[in-house]
Amino acid sequence: MTRLSRAPRRRRGLLAAALSLALLPAVLVLPARAAPDGHPAVIGRRVIGHSVQGRPIVAWHLGESGKPKVVLISVMHGNEPAPRRILDNLRDGQPVHDVNLWIVPVYNPDGFAHRSRRDARGVDLNRNYPYKWARLTGSYYSGRKPASEPETRAMMKFLAKVKPAYVLSFHQPLHGVDITARPAFSRRVARALDLPMTHLNCGSSCHGTMTMWFNHKFAGFALTVELGPSPSAAKLRAAPDRILHVFGAWRGGVQGIARRD
Ligand SMILES: [Zn+2]
Repeated sequence: MTRLSRAPRRRRGLLAAALSLALLPAVLVLPARAAPDGHPAVIGRRVIGHSVQGRPIVAWHLGESGKPKVVLISVMHGNEPAPRRILDNLRDGQPVHDVNLWIVPVYNPDGFAHRSRRDARGVDLNRNYPYKWARLTGSYYSGRKPASEPETRAMMKFLAKVKPAYVLSFHQPLHGVDITARPAFSRRVARALDLPMTHLNCGSSCHGTMTMWFNHKFAGFALTVELGPSPSAAKLRAAPDRILHVFGAWRGGVQGIARRD
């Protein structure tokens, strides 16, 4: 760069600085809500960890900080893809109000890529949590030790940080909501999603599950929600608003201005 070219560049810099100062009040009155990638509902995005094969596990932050915290998780088992459409619909829809919501649409990205229940090392993530862990083999392979998988550790860290009041963990295909624990809340979820109320009995394979670990460790409540093998498109479309309703939340509004439609 020559001396001659430096002076005009500095003047341009000063002009730009003056312009940004002039624009500052306008910037300050813009809504605080950020909308990454054109998602008006999204107020934040966090990579909570990586899978065995290095795929990012993404949590999307919706709703409003300071409201009750709720976490929704789907595709913990890679071959149970339907509930993801509910979470994607929330992420891609209108701004959400009256709940501080985190969603993890693809918790097991390796399993999802390979259409497999388990992670890339063949571990069932829902048997790998460090509470009542047991050595299980076959399709419930629980890993070489408790929390051996990076996906498990990522979710443990995330849930410990967020400390949600409620976690809904979506699965398929058992078609029901277990109402054994916290029956009033669990019944509300079952009714909202038009699912039977059951007492899911997983016999000897219920060890080291995420919900068991969470319910043992935190004050909040984690509930497994089992959709059927092939839920109808109409049910999946209705589910996002019905789930929000369970938590007294709703969505809508224009440019960050809350409005009930
Ligand atoms: Zn499952």
